[in-house]
Amino acid sequence: MLAIRYNARSFSSLKTTMNKSMNPAPAQILDGLAVSAAVLTSVHEAIAAHVRAGGQRPGLAVVLVGEDPASSIYVRAKRKDCERAGIQAGDFDLPFETSQAELLALIDQLNRDDKIQGVLVQLPLPPHIDEVAVTNAISVSKDVDGFHAFNVGRLALRQPGLRPCTSRGIVTLLNYYGIRIKGRHCVVVGASNIVGRPLGLELLYQGATVTTCHRFTEDLAFYVRHAEVLIIAVGKRGVVDADWVADGAVVVDVGINRLESGKLVGDIDFERAAAKAAWISPVPGGVGPMTRATLMQNTAEAAGIDVAEPIMP
Ligand code: NAP
Repeated sequence: MLAIRYNARSFSSLKTTMNKSMNPAPAQILDGLAVSAAVLTSVHEAIAAHVRAGGQRPGLAVVLVGEDPASSIYVRAKRKDCERAGIQAGDFDLPFETSQAELLALIDQLNRDDKIQGVLVQLPLPPHIDEVAVTNAISVSKDVDGFHAFNVGRLALRQPGLRPCTSRGIVTLLNYYGIRIKGRHCVVVGASNIVGRPLGLELLYQGATVTTCHRFTEDLAFYVRHAEVLIIAVGKRGVVDADWVADGAVVVDVGINRLESGKLVGDIDFERAAAKAAWISPVPGGVGPMTRATLMQNTAEAAGIDVAEPIMP
């Protein structure tokens, strides 16, 4: 087993922290809908001021290949967010049969278009297109999803440029409620290229002590029990048992799962986890809207417009 051991002193100090905030009351909600609305307002105000001062309204190219139902819903929502934020959306809906060469040619054209400050290619792409090649073809300065290897590398080296939206959005959400990240033990469950890995880098950048768990982690329960901030991003209902959550922990659920009834739920049993946690994000209405709002924030910043991050009034 991977040898992470907690000595008696560090474990008792963790327990003391937990006990202080041990909650007989259910957890407080990390309200992603409310905080994302505040982020969008902030983006809107910053863009409006920029345009009033004679600046150009930022443009975001939203590229969708094929008609995957979930992707079509996400893209529609992103285009609506553009309207709310005052960003000019350029819609590029391409047929499923689009070749990789044709998609790369479009990206090249968008990279050189000075009316476009952000280029977003909705993933997943059809299987005949190499996602890595496409992601890395987007200009680093227009990579508002933050998935380009160069931007992820910048985050790893503490020189952040455009940062991946889900992980940045989670930090914005925690900051809004004044929840400390620096110095705390954050456990990330899931290590994908688009969520888990960048999240580990983002939390490390924020000064957290980070443990990343994945498919090959032995004794997941051990790490979860020692998490002060637990972030689950697997996409498997029940992958983390709510009984493992430490009293007073902060729980952020990134996972999205659809039950047979059609209801959307996260990776952890919300009710049971909320009985132990101090703070918890719901699904839906937690991380999802934060990811989308952060895309708008990144687009404004790609256009050189600073956006003030909201904090709880
Ligand atoms: P993914 O690419 O399938 O990655 C899942 C990760 O979980 C992988 O790293 C995988 O490990 C790991 N994993 C699988 N089984 C595990 C286990 N038993 N224990 C621990 N780790 C395990 O999914 P993703 O794109 O990261 O998305 C994860 C979830 O978040 C999905 O439900 C997705 O819909 C949701 N999501 C939500 C948002 C949002 O904004 N709310 C954004 C993106 C994704 P390996 O690396 O070893 O395969």
